[in-house]
Amino acid sequence: MSCSYAEGLSPYDNKGKLGLPEQFDQPDKIRAQVEILAQWIRDSPHTVVHTGAGISTAAGIPDFRGPQGVWTLERQGRPPPPSLDWDSATPTFTHRALAVLTQAQRVQFVISQNIDGLHMRSSLSRRHLAELHGNMFVDQCTVCQRQFVRAQPAATVGQKVDASRSCPAPRPNGRRCRGKLADFVLDWEAELPEHDLDLSLAHSTLAHLSIVMGSTLQIIPAGNLPTYAPKFHSTGKLVIINLQPTKHDKKADLIIRGYVDEVMKLLMTELTLPVPDYQPTVDPVAMQLAVANPETFIEWTQDGPAAEKLTEMAQDVEKKFKLKRKAAKDSAQSMLGKMLKKAESDDKPIKTEEESLESKELKLPATSKPSALLNQATD
Ligand SMILES: [Zn+2]
Repeated sequence: MSCSYAEGLSPYDNKGKLGLPEQFDQPDKIRAQVEILAQWIRDSPHTVVHTGAGISTAAGIPDFRGPQGVWTLERQGRPPPPSLDWDSATPTFTHRALAVLTQAQRVQFVISQNIDGLHMRSSLSRRHLAELHGNMFVDQCTVCQRQFVRAQPAATVGQKVDASRSCPAPRPNGRRCRGKLADFVLDWEAELPEHDLDLSLAHSTLAHLSIVMGSTLQIIPAGNLPTYAPKFHSTGKLVIINLQPTKHDKKADLIIRGYVDEVMKLLMTELTLPVPDYQPTVDPVAMQLAVANPETFIEWTQDGPAAEKLTEMAQDVEKKFKLKRKAAKDSAQSMLGKMLKKAESDDKPIKTEEESLESKELKLPATSKPSALLNQATD
């Protein structure tokens, strides 16, 4: 249950804004907004979706900062909200739609803060997914760092090692790895998984369209990544689908206040992409549960070489962005310099020798105009 997850985390005071009221757009407005979003998705060469707890509430898993969220109720001194067992929850329409969107190459990457494993269980492939805060249904080896699908959710949080469970994978020399398995659920302030983070940074930098679903964007760095699209690309856009206000609403090009599943149903119809029901046959957790041989494992390791390659591409984008900024700054400086010079020469009257001797004290201070110009330039 998500509440046992919350209880397992270390105490942490800085949980951000909690329980802000939810807002709802009228259905007509939502339909019009979805039409715009569909067009932006068709036009975007690189789209990244950022998901938070809000996309799993329809699966019976409470969120954290909503009006009935885990942290909201905790602050009010109330008991945690009711929750399904992790095992019983199945992927929502939104999870399944995102798997379809990546397969159709309409979405290049999904960055999730969720640890419920529902993206994995919706058959979203590992190469399309970063799990920045971990996954309840994944173990990680303490030696080779490879990850494996669990048939049941982990009983612990905070990357605790289970000494009774050995890494099932062979080493390159064919021998068994000597590592033990730890849960892959990160505690507050734990170091984020390296390749997942690198891929997230790189995809966010390459993205021309960032779409936030079900997050108030209060946890960093995950919360800041969606702002990269409008930052690094002149036509880059940020879309937020969330009922509560988020930290980056002011930077958004479009905000849709509606239930994310309802919005996604309209969107998938608009894009004419059918979304299948949940299929246990493609759910790695159900598949792992079904294997008879305990030695059989399903791997869930992030693609390190892909992360490196993409990081290089993103660094190019960042470099070009910095050069462009520097060029703009230099040109502003040189323009300012010219204006200052002109203002200075305008202030100097053409004067005779007597005048200059007589009226030194009457001259306007040469700094009056330039300082006014400086103020304008920095306002
Ligand atoms: Zn290992």
